[in-house]
Amino acid sequence: AGPLVTSRSTSIAAKKGLLIRNRTPFESGWKVDRVVFDKTGTLTEGNFGVTDLHPSSNVSEEELLKLAYSVETQSDHPIAKGIVKEGKARKLDAYDVKNYKNLTGKGLVAEVNGEEIAVVSPGAMSSNNISYDEKAFDQLAQQGKTVVFVLKDNVLQGMIALADIIRESSYQVIKELNDRGIETVMMTGDNTRVANYVGEALGISKIIAEVLPHEKSNNVKDLKQGGKKVAMIGDGINDAPALAEADLGIAIGTGTDVAIETADVVLVNSNPKDILNIVKLSKASHRKMV
Ligand code: ADP
Ligand code: MG
Repeated sequence: AGPLVTSRSTSIAAKKGLLIRNRTPFESGWKVDRVVFDKTGTLTEGNFGVTDLHPSSNVSEEELLKLAYSVETQSDHPIAKGIVKEGKARKLDAYDVKNYKNLTGKGLVAEVNGEEIAVVSPGAMSSNNISYDEKAFDQLAQQGKTVVFVLKDNVLQGMIALADIIRESSYQVIKELNDRGIETVMMTGDNTRVANYVGEALGISKIIAEVLPHEKSNNVKDLKQGGKKVAMIGDGINDAPALAEADLGIAIGTGTDVAIETADVVLVNSNPKDILNIVKLSKASHRKMV
């Protein structure tokens, strides 16, 4: 297409909520067989609120939250933001925190009063053979809540459940992709039960959960096998390698800089439904060219 056509289609794309960074992958959008969605911040708003505090015996609710609050002030993960919001709402005084370390895809750890405080995923609990009340955990996870565990020198202090909200437009985009015969996949670092709850609510065909950040791009590679064209849509730093691996990488507009810089197309209104506009516009421009 000549420059006039390009600028015209660019302004149409802008009206449809799309910022096109790489035109060639965008123009192949209509060929996509599979769309892989990140969960937190993509299909959901990524805005967690604390719903349940489940302290171990001899620990108060306030102490459980205060420990988590203190170390999570060091992180900007959506879970951290939810816990910090709750700590502030309850006007808790955070402990001094030293030697903060991020355990990518598993949680974080830091020193408080000479003791090691960790806030970690159910997966990290299992791989370290630390036991917890599985019944209470199941009950929370089955409601779609994300649960994290608070440890002091590897002794469980309790669990904290958080809930996120599924975006209204996620229901529509999944339905329309399914209707068009495009396979929908959800890939998340969150627990399998939570992932199943969200995936089933949305009608997603394939759910891949408990994925560590470095595994995301390998999963996309696997999904490309057999010549399948794969689009990946995400918002996080941990999604960037998978966005690069996909035939078409799409970032949520409010996502992290790394995700946006890696993506071929940015959804400027952060509305996952706008990926349908990629399919439709690229099809229309393909028809014009042939
Ligand atoms: P997602 O794919 O949902 O973005 P991540 O890979 O960022 O997930 O995180 C995977 C899991 O690791 C989370 O569900 C949580 O259990 C744990 N986790 C990550 N960051 C934190 C944090 N700051 N505090 C507590 N837990 C965390
Ligand atoms: Mg995310």
